[in-house]
Amino acid sequence: MPAVARAPFGKTADGTGVEIFTLKNDNGIEVRITNYGAIITSLRVPDRSGAFADIVLGFETLDGYLGAHPYFGAVVGRYANRIADGRFRIDGIGHRLAVNNGPNHLHGGVKGFDKQVWDAEVLGGNGVRLSRVSRDGEEGYPGNLQVAVAYSLTNYNELIVEYQATTDQPTIVNLSQHSYFNLAGAGNGDILGHQLTIAADRYTPVNATSIPTGALAPVAGTPFDFRQATAIGARIDAKHPQLTHGGGYDHNYVLNRKGNALQFAARVVEPISGRVLEVATTEPGMQLYTGNFLDGGIVGKGNLSYGRRAGLCLETQHFPDSPNRSEFPSTVLRPGETYSSRTVFKFDVSK
Ligand code: BGC
Repeated sequence: MPAVARAPFGKTADGTGVEIFTLKNDNGIEVRITNYGAIITSLRVPDRSGAFADIVLGFETLDGYLGAHPYFGAVVGRYANRIADGRFRIDGIGHRLAVNNGPNHLHGGVKGFDKQVWDAEVLGGNGVRLSRVSRDGEEGYPGNLQVAVAYSLTNYNELIVEYQATTDQPTIVNLSQHSYFNLAGAGNGDILGHQLTIAADRYTPVNATSIPTGALAPVAGTPFDFRQATAIGARIDAKHPQLTHGGGYDHNYVLNRKGNALQFAARVVEPISGRVLEVATTEPGMQLYTGNFLDGGIVGKGNLSYGRRAGLCLETQHFPDSPNRSEFPSTVLRPGETYSSRTVFKFDVSK
C-alpha cells in the first residue's frame, strides 16, 4: 500500500496553513483530500478501458475553495441539509441557528464545517483523519462538539468515510459528504445520462423552501422511483409538483433498511465510460441532488465551467429537519454518547 503523501495547499485569509493529502491504492485510484473543509478535491478512477479521469467537481487550488461555491467535496455539518427557520428545541430549550438559505438553516450555517480548518493525522491503513472542536455556540449550536472524519482508500477500490462525534451538552449532529460526481469526468457535460439505482421505496416530499412536509411518500408511479436503474434525465423535467421546488431532484430518500449496519444505498453507472459508483451507508437517508442550481458561473479544474446538472450529490444523512420532526429518526447527541456513521463509496466498471 503506497504511503499517504502530505503537502502544503496554501493559507486561509487569516494566514492558517492548509494541507493536502494524496491517497493511492494498488490499482492506481487516487483521492486528494484537504483539511480545509475536509474536502475531497479530486478522485481519479479508471473507465472500462483503464483510462483515468477525475470524477468530482472542484478546484485545483485552495483559493477556489475559499471563494463562493456550493459545498464542492466538503463534509457538511454540524447539521447537513435544512432545519426549518433555523430553530429547534432539545429538552424544552429553544435554539436559534444561523439562517443562510432563504428562511432556513442549511449545511451548518454561514461558516459550517466545510469552511473550517481541521486538524489532520495520517492513518497507517492508507487514510487521513481530520478532527476539530466545534465550540458551544458555533453557528448557534449548543455544546462543544469533538468531531472527526476519517477517509481511507482500500485495494477493493473503496473510499471509506467514517464520522465520529461526542458532546458536552445535548446537541444535534448530522454529517454528510457533499461531493458532486460526474462519472464521465468533472466538467465533461451533465449527469442526465447516468443510470441511477436507489434502494428506497419512499422519499420525503418538501414544501416550497425544501423542508419536509413530514410525509414519507411512496416513489412508486412517480419520477422519484429509482428502484430499477433509470437515466437521471429520463423524468427530471416531468410535470411533478415536487420536481418544481428544487428545479429537479433535490430530495431525501428513505433508504430501505433493517438495523444499523452498512447497507447498499445507491448505484450509478455512466454508460459511455462504464464507470460505476456504489454507495453503502449506515445512515437512514440519502439526499439526491442533481446540481440543478449550477449555472456555468463557476470555473473549476482544467478551466472547465460547471453548467446546470454537471454533477450529482448522493448525501447520506439523517432526514432534513429531523430536530423538528419527532417521528423521524433522532439526530440528538447527548453527553456520554458517541455519534458514529459510515459511508462507503466503491468504484468499479461495467462491461
Ligand atoms: C441541497 C441543495 C443545495 C445544495 C448546495 C444540497 O445538499 O439539497 O438544495 O442547493 O446542497 O447548497
